[in-house]
Amino acid sequence: MSLRQFAVFGDPIAHSKSPLLHNSLFLELDPSASYGRYHLRESSELRTRFEALGLSGANITVPFKEVAFKQCDEARGIAREIGSVNTLVREEDRLIGYNTDAPGFFNTLRTTPQRALLLGAGGTAKALAAILRAHKIPLMILNRSEARLESFRLQGYSTATPESFTPDSFDLIINSTSAGLSDDSLPFPRALLEPLLHAGVVAYDVIYGKTTPFLALAKERGATPQDGREMLIEQAALSALHFTEHRFSLESIRALMHRALPA
Ligand code: NDP
Repeated sequence: MSLRQFAVFGDPIAHSKSPLLHNSLFLELDPSASYGRYHLRESSELRTRFEALGLSGANITVPFKEVAFKQCDEARGIAREIGSVNTLVREEDRLIGYNTDAPGFFNTLRTTPQRALLLGAGGTAKALAAILRAHKIPLMILNRSEARLESFRLQGYSTATPESFTPDSFDLIINSTSAGLSDDSLPFPRALLEPLLHAGVVAYDVIYGKTTPFLALAKERGATPQDGREMLIEQAALSALHFTEHRFSLESIRALMHRALPA
């Protein structure tokens, strides 16, 4: 039985939960495979490292998702639209790139939103905006500064900064900024957020493993909070479908990963 190796590439990488999630699956369903982590410092070396390690597949995290898109031979599905790849799979001599962050996020929504507000305009926002648009969900993108909104505007999205923002009724508000990740800040002033957060609104934060100030405010206002844990598991489960060539059901993979990372 030949061993198949997988890894996650990022910088930093020590905090990544991907080895835990994927090894929980491999141990149970596919013992010929194992999954490690690789601290990549030089983006130009992503592909050569992947090949030198003899990997069958990999996940790519901050800050290499756009580099992975450029270095793969073919990007499939929504990865082509976003220009960002978080999953690489070797198919014979070719490297195929996928983006599972986008469908991973969408699969975790419990109801179909009528109108969404996306806070932030970084790499994660690109994936979330693309999948919301693919599902025809009306969307406004709000960012604290102008520069990163430009590329969204060119793609036809509605965008605003706090200065130009007109409050509206949204039933899904997603924090895709890194505010609250390693500090105690809200993504926007309390006075802007408070009127938007109330009963009937889902407040979704892509950050996982903590109650961010955004989620704390949402709870205080009676909105329904949802953190990034399920998204983290779902994007990993969708990657694992590619790694295991669809031999196992998404439900069985998801169940194993939920057990490995309890709420
Ligand atoms: P980027 O660096 O690409 O973008 C950061 C965004 O956050 C920018 O819009 C930036 O605004 C904004 N921002 C940063 N700090 C603040 C602040 N203090 N107040 C307001 N806005 C701020 O980051 P990513 O998109 O790659 O990642 C964003 C978050 O998503 C991270 O916390 C990451 O951990 C999380 N994530 C979670 C995943 C999951 O599976 N749960 C998957 C992927 C990411 P500006 O343009 O003005 O600088």
